Amino acid sequence: MADAKSGQIRSGLKDWEQRVGRLRPAQSVVWIPAVAIALIVSIWVAAIVRIQTEGREARVTAAASTVELASSFSAHIAKTVHDADMVVRWVKFEYERSPATFDLAAYDQRGMISADTALQVTIVGPNGDVLQTTTPGGKQVNLSDRRHFLIHQANPEAGLYISQPVLGRVSNQWTLQFTRRLNNPDGSFAGVVVVSENPDFLTDGFYNLDTLGPRGMLAVISDNGYLLSRRTGLGKASPVGPPAAAYRELVGAKGRVFSDPVDHVRRFVTYRHISQYPVAVIVGLSERDALAGYQHAKVLYLVMAAVISVLLLTAAGFITVMMGKLQGLAETDSLTGLPNRHLLTQTLRRRMDATGPSSRLAMLYIDLDNFKKINDTLGHKTGDELLLKVAHRLADVVGKERLLARIGGDEFVILVEDDNAARKAGDLADVVIKAFERPFVMRGNSYLICVSIGIAVHRNAVDNEFGLLTQADLAMYAAKETGKPANVSQHCTYTPALSERALHDIERHQELQYAIINREFSLEYQPIVSLDGELRGVEALVRWRHPTKGVLQPAEFIPFAESSGFIVQIGEFVLEQACQDFREWQDTDPRPLTLSINVSPVQLTTGNVVRAVTRCLNDYMIEPDRLQLEVTETVVLDESALVRTRLEALRRAGVKILLDDFGTGYSSLSNLVNLSIDGVKIDRHFTRGVPAKKASSAMLTHLIGLTRDLGLSLVIEGVETQQQVAWLSRFGDVTVQGFYFSKPVPATALPIARAA
Ligand code: C2E
Ligand code: MG
Ligand code: MG
Repeated sequence: MADAKSGQIRSGLKDWEQRVGRLRPAQSVVWIPAVAIALIVSIWVAAIVRIQTEGREARVTAAASTVELASSFSAHIAKTVHDADMVVRWVKFEYERSPATFDLAAYDQRGMISADTALQVTIVGPNGDVLQTTTPGGKQVNLSDRRHFLIHQANPEAGLYISQPVLGRVSNQWTLQFTRRLNNPDGSFAGVVVVSENPDFLTDGFYNLDTLGPRGMLAVISDNGYLLSRRTGLGKASPVGPPAAAYRELVGAKGRVFSDPVDHVRRFVTYRHISQYPVAVIVGLSERDALAGYQHAKVLYLVMAAVISVLLLTAAGFITVMMGKLQGLAETDSLTGLPNRHLLTQTLRRRMDATGPSSRLAMLYIDLDNFKKINDTLGHKTGDELLLKVAHRLADVVGKERLLARIGGDEFVILVEDDNAARKAGDLADVVIKAFERPFVMRGNSYLICVSIGIAVHRNAVDNEFGLLTQADLAMYAAKETGKPANVSQHCTYTPALSERALHDIERHQELQYAIINREFSLEYQPIVSLDGELRGVEALVRWRHPTKGVLQPAEFIPFAESSGFIVQIGEFVLEQACQDFREWQDTDPRPLTLSINVSPVQLTTGNVVRAVTRCLNDYMIEPDRLQLEVTETVVLDESALVRTRLEALRRAGVKILLDDFGTGYSSLSNLVNLSIDGVKIDRHFTRGVPAKKASSAMLTHLIGLTRDLGLSLVIEGVETQQQVAWLSRFGDVTVQGFYFSKPVPATALPIARAA
């Protein structure tokens, strides 16, 4: 049931979370994704730079390989052409020496002219007819239309001529023809010697898959513009290909990228001319093959960069969410879900910076009265339930636009930002107080809770958020002080006087602390006597010998000593000192005197009076019934178990408890009847009116009669005049205390018998 209720309250407070979101400072956690993105950008830049560098290196390497390959390929071709030319030259030489006896078939049979490469050797006569050929059964054909024939016929200086690959009419195969002119002794045209070669031989012998790859390319072109042989990859070499003109633009190329017009493969290409012969070689390495390793690395780099980016983004997202949650937790009060002190101070700082000391910002500092009592008596669970209900009620009052925070156990703060913030805050405080007029129902019981509200307005440029909180806190304490006696809710607005008072309090606090350490307290004793002046006892009264202010009376420091708690230590000193003095007198003065000591309510609630008293009685061997502890009415009326048991314990120990200052507080005669006390001291305010004031005299008369009837001891304080003594004498034996007999005096001045 209670859980369901608190759930309801929680959900009622839910929209706070949204409001809190708005109030949260912007800085928060955005730096996390920012750092992640910066990291990702640098990873990508590094990856791209690396890829580009590797790409450049791979291209340079590939280009250099083609240059190297072209160099060795050109050496290979130079040798091949040289071999073929050697055959041509030899046949030419032999034939020209003796055309009549030159027998090609015979040389061939003897293996003299069959170079590895030569498919066929043919002697063509001056009119183009084939005169001799190594091809057995070669057809009788006329080759006068062949280009080599025409060139050699026309130009005696043509030298070695390498023809375009042709389908041999004699050999019926694709052949490359190495030709030289045959001369008659007179230099006239005698025909042509033709050595036919298989064009494949030029390139096949050199092609190597390891170095050139499956898409590499080797080509040989002649200066007269023919493609002599070309091979790519696994295919056979072929003389068929693009016109050599297509490769013309490659003249001088060294590792240049070129898209081959035949197979459209892009290659790194190097061109190299062979100096001794009218041929050039071209070596091409497929761009795809040459860059395969690089491409692989590139993919790897890209994938790695992508994976790292995704991981970083995920991690950043996760951390951002977690940090956001943690920040939320750090800024939210876990019980009520309201903003906590941390978020309040942060918001306050930002709002104070934004508004400046314009009186546009005010703060309500709300504290529940007696919350500690509820917690102590009803338990913390109920305390929490009350706080939740209070939070809910305050949230209703505050509305959605203002910040409500819980900054401590039972302390709530509301921020008011408005044109006339001071007035608005005062109005709001009234509304809050009104809201607390309705009781809170918990576990079937109704509880009326009072609040004390302090208001502080941001007027001063030097104030910071903590200063403003302190001001509101001081005002709240002032409200609590004014509200307390009547047990009502109050609000109070901060004024500099409150700070001064607080400062003064701090100074007094310091002074008292020093006073205790430096033993600045001493005792005076006021005799308690019979009407004829015979000493019956003394009351110990404390004095403060202040180093600069002189001797201070109790009225000047006891209230503060009580509120600050120092009264406990002061009280212990008084007890000790008085007992010590009393012991001395007892040793020398035989009269059964009593010792009265004042005990503050604070000593009974916080100190350990019982132990201190019994220790002193033991230490100084004082009969318990000689000691009279004077307590105020608030003490004997206190219903708390603690005070009651302590008073009982003291009485059981034999100590007398006297009700001091009777007639000043709520003094009611019934108290005299009901309370467990041993005697009464009637305050001097009663005595003052005697005998002139009839009412006072009548009251005193009755009180004397009543205490006697009840068997209580009685001391009449403040007897100052002869008339008062005379009036009192009608009651027979009365115990009195007053300036008429003696003011409080130092121990040495008491009329007590002393050792000689
Ligand atoms: P009290 O316990 O009622 O003490 C009597 C006070 O009345 C004393 O003031 C005393 O000087 C004053 N008095 C006595 N006869 C007369 C008289 O004929 N005319 C007038 N006008 N005054 C008279 P004192 O010493 O200033 O003490 C004031 C109060 O301070 C005490 O009132 C007592 O309540 C408190 N007090 C004093 N000493 C202690 C102490 O050691 N502990 C505590 N807790 N309170 C103390
Ligand atoms: Mg007293
Ligand atoms: Mg008194």
